[in-house]
Amino acid sequence: MVNIVLFGPPGAGKGTQSEKIIEKYKLTHLSTGDLFRKHLGEGTDLGKLARKYMDEGRLVPDEVVIGMVDDKLANTPDTNGFIFDGFPRTVAQAEALDKLMEKNGTQISGMIALDVAEEILKERIRERGKTSGRTDDQDESKIETRIKVYLDETLPVATYYEKQGKLSRINGVGTIEGIFENISKVIDSY
Ligand code: AMP
Repeated sequence: MVNIVLFGPPGAGKGTQSEKIIEKYKLTHLSTGDLFRKHLGEGTDLGKLARKYMDEGRLVPDEVVIGMVDDKLANTPDTNGFIFDGFPRTVAQAEALDKLMEKNGTQISGMIALDVAEEILKERIRERGKTSGRTDDQDESKIETRIKVYLDETLPVATYYEKQGKLSRINGVGTIEGIFENISKVIDSY
C-alpha cells in the first residue's frame, strides 16, 4: 500500500493535485474538508457540529476528525492506498493517524508538502471563491484566519514527518502538469 499525506496551506493546490494522483496511482482520496462538506450537505449531526468551526475558518476538534477518518478507513477495505488531503492538521492528528495505520497493518509512506507564498495563496483562494460556493473562500477575515491557523497549528505536522525522514518538499507554484511531474517522482521513489 502507498499512503500519502498531501500537505500545504489552504489554496496550495492539494485538491487539484489529489485528483491527478488518484487517477495515476489508483489511490483512495480522503479529504477531511470534503467529508465535512458532505456531512454539512446531508445535515447530519457531525455536519452541524463541524459547521460552526468551518464557518469561522477554525479547526474542528481533533477527536471528531480522527473518529471520522477511522470510520472512512474501516469502510474502505480494498484499496491500493490512501491520499490524505487536509489531514492531519495537528500533531495530535498525525500521531492518531500513525496508530490508525498500524491498526490497519500499514503505514504512511511519506508526506509531500506543497510550498506556496502567502500572497499567492490568498489570490488563489479569492479566485476559487468565485466558483467554489465555499463561504470560507469568500470572506477576507476567514481566509486570514485559515492561514493563521495553518501557520500556528498545522505547520508543526511537517516537522513531525521530517523527524521520521518522510518529508518531501515540492514547489507548489508553476503549471499543474509540472508540479504533478515532481510529485510523481517522489511517489515513484516510495
Ligand atoms: P479544507 O477543505 O481542507 O480547506 O477544510 C475546510 C474546513 O474544514 C477547515 O477550515 C476546517 O474548519 C475543517 N477541517 C478540514 N479538515 C480538518 C482537519 N483535519 N482538522 C480540523 N478541521 C478540519
